[in-house]
Amino acid sequence: MYDANPLIHHLRAASLGREDAVFATRPGADPLRYGDLFAGAERMAAALVSRGVQPGDRVAAQVEKSLAAIELYLGAVMAGAVFLPLNPAYTDAEVAYFIGDATPRVFVCDPARRESLRAVAGEAAVLTLDGEGQGSLMELAAGQAGFDPVARTPSDLAAILYTSGTTGRSKGAMLSHENLYSNSLTLRDHWRFTAEDVLIHALPIFHTHGLFVATNVALLAGAQVVFLPRFDAEFILAALPTSTALMGVPTFYTRLLAQAQLTPDLAANMRLFISGSAPLLVETHEQWEARTGHRILERYGMTETNMSTSNPYDGARIAGTVGQPLPGVEARVMLEGQELPQGEIGVLEVRGPNVFQGYWQMPEKTAEELRPDGWFITGDLAKIDDSGYVTIVGREKDLVISGGFNVYPKEVETLIDDLPGVLESAVIGVPHPDFGEAVVAVVVPTEEGTDAAAIQAALSGQLAKFKQPKHVALMQELPRNTMGKVQKKALRERFAGLFT
Ligand code: AMP
Repeated sequence: MYDANPLIHHLRAASLGREDAVFATRPGADPLRYGDLFAGAERMAAALVSRGVQPGDRVAAQVEKSLAAIELYLGAVMAGAVFLPLNPAYTDAEVAYFIGDATPRVFVCDPARRESLRAVAGEAAVLTLDGEGQGSLMELAAGQAGFDPVARTPSDLAAILYTSGTTGRSKGAMLSHENLYSNSLTLRDHWRFTAEDVLIHALPIFHTHGLFVATNVALLAGAQVVFLPRFDAEFILAALPTSTALMGVPTFYTRLLAQAQLTPDLAANMRLFISGSAPLLVETHEQWEARTGHRILERYGMTETNMSTSNPYDGARIAGTVGQPLPGVEARVMLEGQELPQGEIGVLEVRGPNVFQGYWQMPEKTAEELRPDGWFITGDLAKIDDSGYVTIVGREKDLVISGGFNVYPKEVETLIDDLPGVLESAVIGVPHPDFGEAVVAVVVPTEEGTDAAAIQAALSGQLAKFKQPKHVALMQELPRNTMGKVQKKALRERFAGLFT
């Protein structure tokens, strides 16, 4: 009966008949077994249907990370609905936009915000779920029995994930059953996940990384997860000796490196450290290898495409690159409609079963970014070497054009990061009366420290004049979002008036 629903069928296949196998352990709570996880998901599906959810309806959830929230995701897909997770940090006004745009049948929110969010929930039935797995949704689910997953086809939608919307309005990326299961199957096999694995899961589950990469891959392998509500260095260090894999954003690795207990011995049981969602510095990669004996495997993807490239499991994991296109995925670099030769920088496009179905109710945006022959224009600037390894050099919108010349922030950042006394940097373009845009470097010094004049002096011999920062600002830390991405938009706003 699970066969009728393609994503659920795949997510359940490895655990069928292994009902007592543990899916998740949590600090201070009982383990959750596979049989109970799926029984819980069936009750969630029945609860949603009892509130009127029909196939194709959206089920939105703005809830804290919990295993009940994973059951809600699975239950929504079982009910034939389209799951729509939202970052708990979004304000009521932001939630109002998503609800107005996606018109969900059911909206699940934190009980503490129920009253204010009800005002923006429109026609949606409002149910609640807190971080401990309590709330009106659970009460409704508790009274339900089993559920036969609703039949769906591979091209039916399973989820809508809104992009972070750093330029303009946030867009709902429509992901089909096939988009999700095909990518997770590819990753499971590429990264060799099996039922023997124990994956440390410390990522948020409103984003593609924690929900689809980490959760789906673990389920498809019938593996176990150490389910942590958020990144916590102490819990992760405690879990390392009995775990086999960690999926993290680069900040996980830099924060863990700051812990003295991190040693090769502590990581001896681990077989794989994976990083993605933001660029991993070469330096972090090297320090991690020195401290643990493991080479981090870096991969690249985005909400619209799931994962597109990965460094190999066997073979060279090249620091600073995001590896080769995954099996079944094609990648090319384009400039003004022409494919560029190897090694040249242009806009990366990808094609394959991983690529989404378009933006929810935005046909013009979809047409701008998704070509009729299936190539998706990622908006990332990249180059591909002769072994097929892709290097991301930044977002196209972060490109600085100074005096008519292109400056790729990554080139300048890499040189600055190599200077003594520099921890990390972000290079941005800000309005300039003569040059259109001027290069500005925002630098985080190490404890030993450095100053703006030393940085400018060191760069002057290494970079063409137009690439040299017209201003170097020192900051304690760079603004980042929950996925560890540097918020260049916030930096551009902060330094916008520097030359005008
Ligand atoms: P999101 O849709 O929030 O997952 O963001 C996707 C974007 O994150 C991509 O378009 C890239 O700009 C960036 N990104 C993801 N993984 C990497 C990586 N390994 N290296 C550099 N940038 C990355």
